[in-house]
Amino acid sequence: MNRYPKRDDLRAMSGYHSPQVSVKVRLNTNESPIAPPAEFVRELAGAVGDVRWNRYPDRSATALRDAIGRLHGVGGENVFVANGSNEVLQSVLLAYGGAGRTVATFEPTYQLHSHIARIAGATVVGGRREADFTLSESEVLRVFSTHAPSVTFLCSPNNPTGMAEDPKVISTAVANAPGVVVVDEAYAQFSPHSALAHVNENSRVAVSRTFSKTWSMAAARLGYLIAPRWMIEDLEIVTLPYHLDALKQTAGIIALKHLAHMEAGVRDVITERDRLLAAMRELPLVVWPSQANFILFRPNSGTDRNRDSTTGRGADVATRGREVWQHLLDAGVLVRDCSSWEGLAGCLRVTVGTTEENDAFLAALRDAVSARD
Ligand code: PMP
Repeated sequence: MNRYPKRDDLRAMSGYHSPQVSVKVRLNTNESPIAPPAEFVRELAGAVGDVRWNRYPDRSATALRDAIGRLHGVGGENVFVANGSNEVLQSVLLAYGGAGRTVATFEPTYQLHSHIARIAGATVVGGRREADFTLSESEVLRVFSTHAPSVTFLCSPNNPTGMAEDPKVISTAVANAPGVVVVDEAYAQFSPHSALAHVNENSRVAVSRTFSKTWSMAAARLGYLIAPRWMIEDLEIVTLPYHLDALKQTAGIIALKHLAHMEAGVRDVITERDRLLAAMRELPLVVWPSQANFILFRPNSGTDRNRDSTTGRGADVATRGREVWQHLLDAGVLVRDCSSWEGLAGCLRVTVGTTEENDAFLAALRDAVSARD
């Protein structure tokens, strides 16, 4: 039977591509390398027996929202929860960014912002970051005045480039945005500052967070948004009934009891990240600074050796990135290949792993970059 054609606006799109190959060292998706504490697993196992499995879960996830609210000093009515922060972002886009509306991103940034916006039917306008991946206030204002976006995404720290957005830029965006501003803080615990203080009932700002990274719960898929009450009410319109299952609600509540474990893990990851950064700076690579649990880098290419070492672009640079990615993979280390992404020619991104994983990565990387240099 012939296939039925999908929506016209989906024709040029493809799904999310991050290869899930089976390798020994997986440093490609920015999860925590640290398992949750044993007490978390024990308590959750006990909670499985307490779930009334024949009944729908609490539709408004009140206890979980209250617990998250307490963590941030806000009420549960200022918290929206969903299956991963990607679903949070999708809900925001369904409510504020559909057909006939414009969504602004500042590239390069987290690819799912523009991807989900397009799926929701919006037009995406991509503002640009500077050559060093910082974002200028003038670029934010230019995008606002040219495109009047209904939704503007900032990402702090920015994935995949690694640095937190300048607080001045966030303030400028908040003060001047024609629509809603979403600050994606998936990596907030690594950052020196947060946009949370901008959220209040008179602002149009929301901050998204996730349990997938520092809370060591990527398998559970849980994310949330801190936002004004009116925004939470709007999101409830686009949310499917009972979207968050009972066990996940419980898992989130139990995880929050282990704040100290999470914070200790963040400190350990930062120590490892700084060790990686120092070691990588000794190699023939461009290495960008990081305030997150991942590092963006670009192996030097022939173009770099012959000309400019920081702005090299073009086929040689991209090819070299891909070669090094393959070399790492052949050595059993999977990193994220950003080498063909716009504005990131030749770049790769490594997630900070355990000490052993990072050592394996460094050994494979040394080997990969000395294979030609
Ligand atoms: N935002 C950013 C910036 C991310 O890097 C990620 C995960 N890669 C997410 C959101 C989505 O995380 P999750 O859906 O697992 O909460």
